[in-house]
Amino acid sequence: VSDLIELRDQLRVFTDERDWAQFHDPKSLILALVGEVGELAELFQWLPADAAVTRVRDEPLRSRVGEELADVLVYLVRLADVLEIDLGDAALRKLQGSTTRFPVDEVRGQAPEKA
Ligand SMILES: [Mg+2]
Repeated sequence: VSDLIELRDQLRVFTDERDWAQFHDPKSLILALVGEVGELAELFQWLPADAAVTRVRDEPLRSRVGEELADVLVYLVRLADVLEIDLGDAALRKLQGSTTRFPVDEVRGQAPEKA
């Protein structure tokens, strides 16, 4: 997945220029990732579930959600890079596995019992 590789490479440059790789151990990156997921969740915390998609179409919420999604992606890509895991390949493998586990003709329209 070339977009993820490009993002990974730009994050390497950003990190190396600032000599921040020394702080990017897996534990610290996971805590940063969880923190950003928390910031994303906070934006939805008191929104009625059935109104969330509509509300996110409007500013300023739209920009805020985009920023937090980006923060989550950045830490996730950086974590995968530090752990030397090809994130795009891993995600495609998971999707392939889910396609096999959940045949369309058996599960269409039903919530999966276990993801
Ligand atoms: Mg954030």
